[in-house]
Amino acid sequence: MRLVVGAPLRLFNTLGRELQEFAPLEPGRARVYTCGPTVYAYQHIGNLRAYVFADTLRRVLEWKGYEVVQVINITDVGHLTSDMDEGEDKLELASQREERSVWEIAAHYTDVFLEDLEKLRMRPPTLWAKATDHVEEMIAFARVLEEKGYAYELEAGLYFDTAKVPDYGKLALLDLEGLQEGARVAPTAGKRNPTDFALWRASPRDAVRLMEWDSPWGKGAPGWHLECSAMSMRYLGERFDVHTGGVDHIPIHHTNELAQSEAYLGRPWVPVWLHNEFINLRRAKISKSKGGTLLLSDLEQQGFHPLAYRFLLLGSHYRSQTEFTWQGLEGARVAQRRLLERLRERVPTRGDPLTYEEAATRLEGSALAYPEQLDEAVSADFNTAQALAVLTQLSRDSELPVDDLDVLASASEALLAVGLLDLAPEKLDLPAGELLLEADEVDRLLGEREEARRRGDFAAADQIRDRLDELGVEVRDTSEGTVWSVRAADAGPAREDHL
Ligand SMILES: [Zn+2]
Repeated sequence: MRLVVGAPLRLFNTLGRELQEFAPLEPGRARVYTCGPTVYAYQHIGNLRAYVFADTLRRVLEWKGYEVVQVINITDVGHLTSDMDEGEDKLELASQREERSVWEIAAHYTDVFLEDLEKLRMRPPTLWAKATDHVEEMIAFARVLEEKGYAYELEAGLYFDTAKVPDYGKLALLDLEGLQEGARVAPTAGKRNPTDFALWRASPRDAVRLMEWDSPWGKGAPGWHLECSAMSMRYLGERFDVHTGGVDHIPIHHTNELAQSEAYLGRPWVPVWLHNEFINLRRAKISKSKGGTLLLSDLEQQGFHPLAYRFLLLGSHYRSQTEFTWQGLEGARVAQRRLLERLRERVPTRGDPLTYEEAATRLEGSALAYPEQLDEAVSADFNTAQALAVLTQLSRDSELPVDDLDVLASASEALLAVGLLDLAPEKLDLPAGELLLEADEVDRLLGEREEARRRGDFAAADQIRDRLDELGVEVRDTSEGTVWSVRAADAGPAREDHL
């Protein structure tokens, strides 16, 4: 058994909505499952917060001495356009849209996702689990549920009967009486309860599905929720410690995972559920042609190092809804650059990131208690903003011995991974396009241009277009209307051709 050190880790458990002290099922070992992406499109920077949070969780656990086993899934089949099992498979739609095979789609978006995580210095999990590699396990899982009487078969496939689970919805605190099926899609014929969901989706008789497998219920594909239950148990054991994901997973995906897993086991499943809040991108979209999303590569094209984004994320609590703005990112970069400059000035050579024990040993006898301060911050439900504040404050303290500052920086890097040991401050600025324009401002100018064109003043309209062009915004008139995108500095055309 490993030695676990530092303050007790207190975390906010969505199940029960309270702060709890972390107590793993197995002493010294933490088993964690993180809901991964559906690889049918690029992950925007808001999506990436979930993985920076999962990485922070892992770093904090390892810093305290836990052996961490972490699994993240890659969903490459089964996630429909509605989380409620209605609509079409996201991968199949993307395949039609991009005229590439589902396998090419999955491979492409998985690669970009993994590159983004690497740029953000996320350490790879113990295991990536890909849904299409585990269909056998999913079928076996659904068989057990059927044998136990939790499932019923319809023409649309095998469905889970949520009425058989007395505490269904406990994670989301769902008001079942008030629940209605979404009005946008027609409910599946024969479903017993609005909340029932597909374990197995039967292939339509009159159409060929791009991805389908044989099963006891005929040809078809697994349901999205089933994937995570089957794959997490396969690698982490029937019960494990922590399940993480974005808050959007609470009402349907995680609610259904929990219900089917506890039905399968006949006892409680994962005790701790951690959910990160959204990053709101509404005010910062830079390209309408990309559906209003903002990618990590967009930040790079605008001259921001990916670690400046990580620094920004760590500056707010993972459970707070945060608005992304370019000014906010610039503010994070300035703070990070000053911090790196102060560290470089005072501690020109650096070592490797330290564990809690190593940091504490090296600072033994020191009057100040930096590792404790850092540890207390991250142990309080991952208060990374506080940890950054401790570090920033101490880096300004000219009385602090250089050796101590060095240890402090090394320890902080182990927890925060924002380039304290190896990133030169000037590297935070990448070569970029000329200008940062808020989307609102571009929209306003385009509105003026539209107005000018309506009244026939084409010279004025062209003038606005030229001005935007000078500011690095490319405007194109298409059959669907006017679209615009921010031109990369030297990266050639943007990726909009893929979307
Ligand atoms: Zn999941």
